[in-house]
Amino acid sequence: MKLEVSMSLFDKMADHDHEQVVFCHDESSGLRAIIAIHNTTLGPALGGSRMWPYETENDALQDVLRLSRGMTYKAAVAGLDLGGGKTVIIGDPKKDKSEALFRALGRFIEGLNGRYITAEDVGTSTTDMANIQRETAHVRGCSAGAGGSGDPSPVTAYGALRGFQAAVRWQLGTDELKGLRVALQGCGHVGYYLAKQLSDAGCELVVTDIDEARSARLKEECGAVVVDTDAIYDQECDVFAPCALGAILNSDTIPRLKCKVIAGAANNQLATDADGVALAERGILYAPDYIVNAGGLINVYHEGPNYNREMVMEQVSRLYETTLEVFRLAKEHGLRPEDAATRLAENRIAEVGRLRRIHRS
Ligand code: NAD
Repeated sequence: MKLEVSMSLFDKMADHDHEQVVFCHDESSGLRAIIAIHNTTLGPALGGSRMWPYETENDALQDVLRLSRGMTYKAAVAGLDLGGGKTVIIGDPKKDKSEALFRALGRFIEGLNGRYITAEDVGTSTTDMANIQRETAHVRGCSAGAGGSGDPSPVTAYGALRGFQAAVRWQLGTDELKGLRVALQGCGHVGYYLAKQLSDAGCELVVTDIDEARSARLKEECGAVVVDTDAIYDQECDVFAPCALGAILNSDTIPRLKCKVIAGAANNQLATDADGVALAERGILYAPDYIVNAGGLINVYHEGPNYNREMVMEQVSRLYETTLEVFRLAKEHGLRPEDAATRLAENRIAEVGRLRRIHRS
């Protein structure tokens, strides 16, 4: 695997003002990971560890830079005292995992001395977090037995449902989800729980996943119609809910969409800024990903001896109001929702950042 150097690493970091990028290598466990810390103005950088068989090192680097920046904005709009960071592990989660690999990563994270805190993400699990925890305390989302709050996905899915409801309210003028047709991409941890809640609310589901067993489970449990992975973009539906990977809203897929609203949990859904423009031109309302998928982050933020699930769910439920606030701000200032969300985040980072000049001894 070669790193394509069309732009220098420092130029890439400067492009979105990243603070630190750490390359982690351990020959014997096979660990190849990149930790990116985007911004720590509001607090330590928190973001999950993603394990994925990236085709090139450049793809892994691009992903970690984009994801860590998204975490900064997600924490800022959610009102948390956290910065944004992320880890990507280059490898196949079905074949390349071991205790040693995650412990090696844990030791690198420990070396950052609390500037970065990790958690679960695509391709990693609470078991992997437990192995990281053997080497560092800077990890969240461990199982309840290990002092954590367990898999954050159900909480993320609940927040995504609240964001989904707000987007339906704004675009379709109703709080009633019954009878809506939803095309859902990715039936993994979050997608599964979101699909179950939508089905309980009376939505008709069309689903897809590259892992057929996962979509089949929703067919069995919710009567979802299963389609091929590429066919999901052509479905006649009210809402498209992306819950797999990023960059799926792009120049190939947007012209094919037959929905009025996009609201789902996947990170980095828009491939480029121009794709946000294309959605707006088509009159499709986009609920910014990091607003509606903040539930898991809110959950792990509150982990600790005073963790209270009910209080967490109440805060997550307020993502309905936050999503509506983003749409209102967008309307008021003639912005697209993703730009309004960025404005909210950057305002909070600047305001709280300014407080640093007040010395606390
Ligand atoms: P997951 O790995 O459990 O699920 C992802 C699913 O998408 C898998 O079932 C995978 O097979 C499927 N998939 C991958 N590529 C696909 C494609 N092209 N077409 C159809 N299906 C495809 O991951 P998850 O934890 O459910 O996370 C899903 C998304 O939500 C990710 O983008 C993640 O970053 C984001 N997210 C997750 C959380 C959380 O709490 N888990 C929090 C915030 C954001």
